[in-house]
Amino acid sequence: MLTYLGVAGWPVAHSRSPAMHNAALAAVGLTDWRYLKLPLPPARFAETVRALPAAGFRGINVTIPHKAAALALADEATETAAAVGAANTLTFLPSGAIHADNTDVPGLLEALPVDPAGKTALVLGAGGAARAAVYALRSAGAADVMVWNRTRERAERLVADLGGRVVDAPESAAMLVNCTSVGLRETDRPFKSLPIQADTLGVGSYVADLVYRPGGTALLVEAHRRGAAVVTGLEILVAQGAASFERWTDMTAPRQAMRAAVDHHV
Ligand code: NAP
Repeated sequence: MLTYLGVAGWPVAHSRSPAMHNAALAAVGLTDWRYLKLPLPPARFAETVRALPAAGFRGINVTIPHKAAALALADEATETAAAVGAANTLTFLPSGAIHADNTDVPGLLEALPVDPAGKTALVLGAGGAARAAVYALRSAGAADVMVWNRTRERAERLVADLGGRVVDAPESAAMLVNCTSVGLRETDRPFKSLPIQADTLGVGSYVADLVYRPGGTALLVEAHRRGAAVVTGLEILVAQGAASFERWTDMTAPRQAMRAAVDHHV
């Protein structure tokens, strides 16, 4: 009998999580486990997820647009998922309970090449990814977490829930974390759509972009060219995936195999 994992989203066709997790399962010898894509429209999410344990599922990742619904349907949640207000990892416990966690938080912290403690940070965006980033940076002791969002009210709600401060015209910070979807398309112009100047991204600064695309995002390509330390969305994907894998399997995630299974670009 096979044991199943998966990723629930809508749409989910382009997710790299199945390739990454199936490589991880093979690398640790869990040959009777499979990680599947679960395309679920919002109206079917809760009823389908509740049926998964009986179908042999141990746990699932949850992506857009289901992260808040995943937390809502869980019987228990980590402090991190509850604080962020979203879950990206559900585990089906032997007791029948559904456990929710948010591994985007430890994933970002693992992927950053430096401890944020005492550092200034600028988070761009106020969606689910930004909420995880602000919680991560503040819990790791960042000195000042600025939050900018195109729609200011959303940034105000985020800061009211999680701390930090809303900025309209951000000062440059030691760490920049792009949590907007700007950069996803080749035609995106981050230095026009976002309040950042390329000449502030030099040596000594850290730039993380949650977005990933073949060839690297325009933001990271420019930051890398100017000497900043960059963290790609794929590195963050691997780190959050590794944390989820460890919760489901109780084994150390084979990060190298996971990294090899997703393309690496600047
Ligand atoms: P979300 O909740 O839909 O939030 C999207 C954010 O992007 C909002 O802050 C939105 O601003 C902003 N935005 C969209 N278009 C914009 C534009 N043209 N100019 C300025 N801001 C714009 O999405 P999310 O879940 O937070 O995810 C954000 C991105 O991170 C996605 O691309 C997702 O794929 C990526 N992500 C990656 C990982 C990873 O592991 N690498 C994990 C999670 C998410 P408004 O509020 O004004 O609409």
